[in-house]
Amino acid sequence: MRFTLREWSLGLAYKTMSLPIKIISTDFDGTLHSENEVPRVPKHLELLIARLQHQGVVWVINTGRDLNHLEAGLSLAGMSIRPDYVVVVEREIYKHVEGRWDSVEAWNTECSRAHEILFQQVKRSLPIVVAEIENRFQVTIYEDRYSPLCFIAEDVETAAEIHKYLDGVFRDLPELTVVRNHVYARLSHRAYNKGTALAELGRLLNVSRDHIFAAGDHLNDLPMLSKDYAHWVVAPANAVPLVKEAVLRESGWVSDLDCGHGVAWGLERALAMHGLTFE
Ligand SMILES: [Mg+2]
Repeated sequence: MRFTLREWSLGLAYKTMSLPIKIISTDFDGTLHSENEVPRVPKHLELLIARLQHQGVVWVINTGRDLNHLEAGLSLAGMSIRPDYVVVVEREIYKHVEGRWDSVEAWNTECSRAHEILFQQVKRSLPIVVAEIENRFQVTIYEDRYSPLCFIAEDVETAAEIHKYLDGVFRDLPELTVVRNHVYARLSHRAYNKGTALAELGRLLNVSRDHIFAAGDHLNDLPMLSKDYAHWVVAPANAVPLVKEAVLRESGWVSDLDCGHGVAWGLERALAMHGLTFE
């Protein structure tokens, strides 16, 4: 027997089925959202997520942006819905409560503490590392509150080379990782990423990976595009090759559609496998 989500919302399917998806984790840039489209988030996807949220599904935007930058992006996108949670800077979790963002304090405090300790060890070698990178590559290097070393490379190839160089320099610090998205990168603690933050959200909400859907397009999404953290892993058509390969390795789905259209396709495919359609 098949049901539309509207029938579901009216309770017609109540006694025979349960929604398979309980948490939706979407990256923002290049996944949910595209600056090259109008609207930036497809209306169809917005309606689909709204309908699922109405049924109790929790939606989290899992992004490399910080909270202010994400808020700006959401406002510019003109969306009528807001996520229930956000993971920002690929590691900090906030809950949406009556128009404000409440820190998930236990996780965020432990995350900050781990990074503080790790970055103390890194700082000693940073002057030499920064000088070497500036000498070899066309790049802008800076420090922010999340990482003692961030860079913006002139192109993706240069970013990949610097990434490789840093992996080599810090090979004796296994807890340290370089988190890269396109030409941008920062240093981070390996234990805190989009995947582990999603797992923490599942733990807090008592939702197992069997009911989690994750979609992303770039390298910083790789930790959450894993069957360790999500039953459904989806990449839109515009995802970088390494992400598409990882998703297929995890028996996930790569859409023929870009950005939010690909996410909507993945969500609908997951629902259809459980007899639900969105109309
Ligand atoms: Mg992205």
